[in-house]
Amino acid sequence: MFNVNDIRKDFPILSRKVNGKPLVYFDNAATSQTPQQVIGGIVDYYSNHNANIHRGVHTLSQEATDLYEQARQKIQVHFNAKFSHEIIFTSGTTHGINLVANGFSSLLKKGDEIIVSALEHHSNIVPWQMLCERTGATLKVIPMNDEGELVMTEFDIMLSENTKLIFVNHVSNALGTVNSIEYIIEKAHQVGAAVLIDGAQSSPHIKADVQKLNVDFYVASAHKMCGPTGVGVLYGKEEWLKKLPPYQGGGEMIAEVTFEKTTYAELPHKFEAGTPNICGGIAFGAAIDYMNAIGFEVIANYENELLEYATEELLKIEGLKIYGTSKHKTSVISFNLEGIHPYDVGTILDKLGIAVRTGHHCAQPIMDYFKIPGTVRASFSFYNTKAEIDTLVEGVKKAKMMLS
Ligand code: PMP
Repeated sequence: MFNVNDIRKDFPILSRKVNGKPLVYFDNAATSQTPQQVIGGIVDYYSNHNANIHRGVHTLSQEATDLYEQARQKIQVHFNAKFSHEIIFTSGTTHGINLVANGFSSLLKKGDEIIVSALEHHSNIVPWQMLCERTGATLKVIPMNDEGELVMTEFDIMLSENTKLIFVNHVSNALGTVNSIEYIIEKAHQVGAAVLIDGAQSSPHIKADVQKLNVDFYVASAHKMCGPTGVGVLYGKEEWLKKLPPYQGGGEMIAEVTFEKTTYAELPHKFEAGTPNICGGIAFGAAIDYMNAIGFEVIANYENELLEYATEELLKIEGLKIYGTSKHKTSVISFNLEGIHPYDVGTILDKLGIAVRTGHHCAQPIMDYFKIPGTVRASFSFYNTKAEIDTLVEGVKKAKMMLS
């Protein structure tokens, strides 16, 4: 049985005070908090197993290697990849996207088209623009509507035999919209295009099955899934990962090196040059275990309850507008108070111990669409409570009174 009060005991940070007030952490879409089970794993790794992996014959190196490779298998099982070598450890979503964008440099030519969506994070826009500059390919954008949803009829029109790649986030970080990735993947494959799904925002809420989705690439960051920063995952279908050239050269990713020629290691090592974030990878595995023990369906149901309650309560405040009103949303509320800058609201909320994000959320095109400088974004996780939402609502009312 899910009991939020028991869950909260797993997160030491949730009992601290900020500015003399109990912390209310509603910046989960930026980074989630870390449970004791994951922190304990990090302490255990550095206390008992720390060594470099893959190349040592000594016991510690073998222990560290086993733990790291076990974590890769946990991630494989979690995302239901066919093979563990389809799981590439990265430093995060941004790294995974750049790895794929770089790989496609040699596969694209002038006249080829890449499709992204109007709802993307900058890290799923800029690498593709850079790729277009390198190759002469053209970038097309699926537009959005006032609800913050993608206009799929426009996608149907822009899709053609020239489309080689499509990059869309599963969930928008700025608005929380859940995109119709199943439809996009199916349509893309009909014209022979590959699809990369940015799962940075979906992975904390929705368990993606990459085989069922039939997606070509899926990327995520551990730090949004109760894991540490500086580690993430790129899932790629074996056939694609074999086709793409390595991203970085260095140790670990080679089979043989001479000054005349280097041959590359097999997957996944071909894409894992240098000493990786070993402890981070292991902790990522522990975080996935932690979330699965609670259960993603349980998490999604509870977070949805929080979303509905917060939406209802916030909308009672006169002059408050929510951006992103799709029925298909994760637990993110982006809002503004009429005539008040989001930064000012965020500053007052911080004084009250409430952590929200303010600004353009690395998604400037969305802000341009709504003709606003940014929003206040409150994003909820399974360890948040309705009482904390009440505190937020009172805080927003206070901010409105002080700033009007
Ligand atoms: N894509 C989306 C949708 C995101 O929300 C984020 C993180 N805010 C990223 C990509 C980038 O993730 P990271 O900074 O962990 O590489």
